[in-house]
Amino acid sequence: MKKVVVITTGGTIAMKYDAAAGGLVPAVSGADLLQAVPALRQIAELEVKEYANVPSGHMTPQMMLEVAALADAYAARQDVSGIVVTHGTDTMEETAYMLSLACRTVKPVCITGAMRGASDMGYDGPANILAAVKVAACSEAGGRGALLVFNDEIHAAAEVTKSHTVSCSTFASPHWGPVGYVYEDGVVFRRRSENLEKITVQGKLAAEVALLKVYAGMDDFFFRCAAEKPVQGLVVEAVGCGNVPPEVMEGIRYVRAKGIPVVLASRVHAGRVVPIYSYLGSAGSMKDFGLLYAGELTGQKARLKLMLALAQTADFNELKQYFIEEAAR
Ligand code: ASP
Repeated sequence: MKKVVVITTGGTIAMKYDAAAGGLVPAVSGADLLQAVPALRQIAELEVKEYANVPSGHMTPQMMLEVAALADAYAARQDVSGIVVTHGTDTMEETAYMLSLACRTVKPVCITGAMRGASDMGYDGPANILAAVKVAACSEAGGRGALLVFNDEIHAAAEVTKSHTVSCSTFASPHWGPVGYVYEDGVVFRRRSENLEKITVQGKLAAEVALLKVYAGMDDFFFRCAAEKPVQGLVVEAVGCGNVPPEVMEGIRYVRAKGIPVVLASRVHAGRVVPIYSYLGSAGSMKDFGLLYAGELTGQKARLKLMLALAQTADFNELKQYFIEEAAR
């Protein structure tokens, strides 16, 4: 029988209602989680490693990188076939992308969680863990980057995003849809994500990278704040296909003049950043600024990628190489 290692980090999947606190709080251990799903024993032999028990809003990029290193360390063991990480859903897509970028293993690495707590009606944790373990134990799931398994759907880490605040079918890949599905009788893959890039990082993620979302009537204030802090990188979630109000354009010019790399992403949930306009504030009008394009990556994922790239180099021309493919896809 295959062996799957389950690394637990917390999230709603490990929470129960607490009357004194008046809401869900961390309560369930890694071992409790697995014990609640006897069907798992028919799929794989399990080993549990409790990394943390925190809401996913408490996860940091450094912690995400540590989970990736842990996943790699377990996957390096010959007796281990695959890894499942349990995680809160709020930042799950970020940890998924970190696992995808940073894990070197070609064995399956899956991430899952729950939208309903262990004391709620319709707790979706057991079904999601079962599905994730099925995928982690499936050799076809290897070499596809980290996979987010939720509600019996399998999503590619670079493509998936949380799309609803409370629905159990919250995870979606707005550009291309799921890469596969988990059925009662097996795991089915229908396509492979094109974005399976790796960036190897050793040690700490020291660079501070800010993410600013653009809105109508925004001025340059927060851009100047970011430059004064100073951050080592900035991701801008522009409107449409990469456009900003004229005053924001001046803010971006100011940040770039300080030598800070800026990645242009879009606040729209699907579609690439494309410089098709040339009016003031359009991506086209900022061509001379030397902006990096996020392509299809969301702002929060482009931020993680820039952090990893900055852990490798501060040289702008080298940084550019990390975003050339994003700009093209
Ligand atoms: N707030 C929770 C978290 O991200 C939500 C969840 O797990 O679904 O930890």
